[in-house]
Amino acid sequence: MTERSYETVTYDMPLPAVARITMNRPKERNAQNLQLTYDLNAAFDRAAQDDQVKVIILAGSDPHFSAGHDLTGDGGKTWRDYPVVGTWCGFDCDGAEGRMAREQEIYIGMTERWRNLPKPTIAQVQGKCIAGGLMLAWACDLIVASDDAEFRDPVLEMGVCGVEFFNHPWEVGVRKAKEWLFTSDWLSAAEAKALGMVNQVVPRAELAQAVLAMAEKIARKPSFALKVTKEAVNQCQDHMGRRLGMLQAFSLHQLCHSHNMQKFGIPVDPQGLPPVVRERFMAVRGKV
Ligand code: ZN
Repeated sequence: MTERSYETVTYDMPLPAVARITMNRPKERNAQNLQLTYDLNAAFDRAAQDDQVKVIILAGSDPHFSAGHDLTGDGGKTWRDYPVVGTWCGFDCDGAEGRMAREQEIYIGMTERWRNLPKPTIAQVQGKCIAGGLMLAWACDLIVASDDAEFRDPVLEMGVCGVEFFNHPWEVGVRKAKEWLFTSDWLSAAEAKALGMVNQVVPRAELAQAVLAMAEKIARKPSFALKVTKEAVNQCQDHMGRRLGMLQAFSLHQLCHSHNMQKFGIPVDPQGLPPVVRERFMAVRGKV
């Protein structure tokens, strides 16, 4: 088991067999930068490697679960400051080579890694859950949301075909996935539950307790049976085409970034960016 300190997450054991990882960048609305990505990965590994832990909770400090990927940068840090877990490498290469390497490592690769952790995971979602935030929730086996939770992927407005971990069709069904992506509309917690993306919706004040109650119930079951049941369901979904479809969508996602580079000199359509992020991107136009 890897004991370590984290800059952007807290790790606690609210019950004897339950680990809880809480993203703790409230000012940035738990936006995912490199530090948070590798802190999350280390915390997930710690919970996976601790034989006392049978269920893992992923939460976000208030007010919002996650605003998605942090587009304001990594405070001068690079991939060299963190322990790379994938094999793609080439992060310093120019053009699409470096961009694809980065997104393989920290987005689709890391999210897939967390999705395949051999223990049940529960996302505890409140407030806004946007774009990359969806990937964090979707990586978990179960999602419990507060009644004020809202979900949205506005990446199409940035000229790209949805977030890197393209799980939309599996989460809400094919037809709704198209509407949701085409319109970039919000999905309420109640709608998400009706569509099968969310397991339970509870009042905001009861969210943490509801998640603990579910975790406690699961933690009473035999650990090996939990592990192989998760594996069985994940394997079924992958035989139904999830993994191949996601890899194809990821290739198209990279095509979108390259298209935007040719057209705008940055990997996204500047019209879809918040003004402060647009300025940052345009300042490095042609160099990212
Ligand atoms: Zn991307």
